[in-house]
Amino acid sequence: HLRTSRAGFTRQHGHMVSGRHLHMGQPITDDEATIAAALEDVSIPVLMCSMVHLTGDPSWIRGEIRPQGIFLNEYQGFMPEEMKAEARRLALAAIVEHRDRGRTVPPVPDRAVLQEMMSYLAVAEVADEFVQMFLEDLELVDSPATSAAWAESIPAEAKAATEVIVIGCGEAGLLAGIRLSEAGIPYTIIEKNAGPGGTWWENRYPGARVDIGSHFYCYSFEPADHWSEYFVRQEELQRYFVRVMDKYGVGAHCRFETEVTGATWNEATDTWSVALRNPDGSTDSIEGRVVISAVGSLNRPKMPVIAGMDDFAGPSFHTARWDSSVDYRGKKVAQIGAGASGFQLAPTIADDVEQLTVFQRTAQWMFPNPNYHRQVPPGESWAMRHLPYYGRWFRFLTFWPGAGLRMDNSRIDPNFDDSDGLAVNATNKITREMFLGLMAAQIGDDPELIAKITPDYPASGKRTLQDNGSWLKCLTKENVELVRTPIERIVHNGVVTTDGEFHQADIIVYATGFRHNDFLWPMEITGRGGQRLGELWGNAPSAYLGITVAGFPNLFCLYGPGTNLAHGGNLIFQSECQVTYVMDALRLLLDGGFTAMEPTQSAYDDYSASYRSEIDQMVWSHWSIRNSHFKNPDGKIHTISPWPVPTYWAWTRAVDPSAYVFSGGAGTADDSTGVADHG
Ligand code: NAP
Repeated sequence: HLRTSRAGFTRQHGHMVSGRHLHMGQPITDDEATIAAALEDVSIPVLMCSMVHLTGDPSWIRGEIRPQGIFLNEYQGFMPEEMKAEARRLALAAIVEHRDRGRTVPPVPDRAVLQEMMSYLAVAEVADEFVQMFLEDLELVDSPATSAAWAESIPAEAKAATEVIVIGCGEAGLLAGIRLSEAGIPYTIIEKNAGPGGTWWENRYPGARVDIGSHFYCYSFEPADHWSEYFVRQEELQRYFVRVMDKYGVGAHCRFETEVTGATWNEATDTWSVALRNPDGSTDSIEGRVVISAVGSLNRPKMPVIAGMDDFAGPSFHTARWDSSVDYRGKKVAQIGAGASGFQLAPTIADDVEQLTVFQRTAQWMFPNPNYHRQVPPGESWAMRHLPYYGRWFRFLTFWPGAGLRMDNSRIDPNFDDSDGLAVNATNKITREMFLGLMAAQIGDDPELIAKITPDYPASGKRTLQDNGSWLKCLTKENVELVRTPIERIVHNGVVTTDGEFHQADIIVYATGFRHNDFLWPMEITGRGGQRLGELWGNAPSAYLGITVAGFPNLFCLYGPGTNLAHGGNLIFQSECQVTYVMDALRLLLDGGFTAMEPTQSAYDDYSASYRSEIDQMVWSHWSIRNSHFKNPDGKIHTISPWPVPTYWAWTRAVDPSAYVFSGGAGTADDSTGVADHG
């Protein structure tokens, strides 16, 4: 099972370790009772797939024992108890036999069987067009896209002349560092915080946790057997980024507590001058051939503009700037804003405060997720460590139902009557009714509260939040009040709403979100001909594939315009797509002997136009949604992707050279690659 490309290898203590060997699981030495106990905790559909690997026999997934249905974050496929018990009995015997005979795991099944396993877990035929993406994501096949073998033939001096400056050491910057290390390309990561993790470093408010399943919201090439919860909290995720940084030696390339304030393209040298503010406040500048912006898009707090904010006498702060020196226990807390952050904060602090007043401008849609606060039981962790490919198929189970394979459900149907602003297509109307039913069932007979929490816009029109009952339960507590009346002003000891009511507060927390539309802000990026990126973009930021901008050579954005996800996937997966693309761009640059590349004006314009036409047809753009961080001040969207996740994955596997202008260095125009001289 040894891999031939670098894709599946991780460097540990100087040795190459096969990713696939890691997935085969550690040797099993436990006694039968221990194994049987572990099997009580596992996902039975995933167990059945693991047994195919363990025995080399596909009949495990061809019999009566099969998932009956699928729902995001449901791990048992709605199997009846007797079916699960029978599966455990059969698997126990197979595992014990495997252990006793000291067998090695048979070769990975062929593609047809792997596709059948996907269909088994998905409870639907997984179409050919999607298979390769999942096979590569699960490291069941080698991925040409992530191989750095090309870099071996690049002369050392060419690499040395291609210093890359990565801005930000969140999940995306760290990933860029890993891939640059693998390719042997020199790089420096500039990070404004004192450690890695980006948004997971900054958001330390009580209750902060990931709301995409942890076994999917992690690097595809790293083990995921260590998560303590199915949706881990901020501390654990941030520690994960530290561990990954250390494992790949990325820390040695990082300058922490250093902020990039701007970058200017030097046409004479084909390099970027990157302006820095050092930890001591002094300024500085470094040169690099390439800049990768990995600054994130949801980490510059957006404070509201409310009359009297400065008059408030008590502590007040944004969720992403949580002041842990302030003891909120026994206090009256006003929480302004209730999106994803506010939804996590309120239930976490409600029992500890005297009074919690939540000011919510727009009611939010939520999606049932009973596993949201659940610990990973020890048997599940054991299975991830010991049973072959169990962890991989668990990743598939958490990826598939939210994989964003098609856009139909998110598309505004022009033939559907949307004049009430409540739904955009027939399925969307059914979703609305289903969600409302689930919400009302939790509240019981409280028409006033039901009216307050009922959104007046289509389901999934804003970011849908996780519902394990904690939010609505919080709202029904004696000391919690949900206020939907708009805020008029803030006074020294509280908040006054437009109905004249006064809401006393000792502390104000702004859970008001981020400057999601201000890409790369507040950095000042100056490209070819002195053009300022902020001026070019104005309120309408755009990038070719969300990554590159005409007139800004060798600048690559991760999580750039139009790449946030509201319909599936996850941002780490998205970053893996984008970093694969950037590495391929560096391959073309170095292989061709060039010093600069930028998208052609037509590639940039065509992509922007096609983005505009797609995104305007999607539910998030619907006229009924008045307040949304996805929308810019003109009500237009430039933040989220309108493309199916596999489409974007396919587009970012390799750079189309004909979409770029290559220039400088010793490189020459070559018609066969579409390489052309600049200008
Ligand atoms: P958000 O979704 O933008 O929510 C901000 C909240 O503040 C909304 O309730 C908003 O009301 C309100 N607000 C903003 N300006 C206001 C004003 N001037 N007056 C009154 N209310 C105002 O921000 P967020 O909750 O921080 O989440 C942002 C994004 O971060 C999420 O979409 C998600 O991508 C990410 N996030 C993820 C997690 C996670 O994975 N667990 C957790 C937190 C955040 P309106 O709705 O009316 O605009």
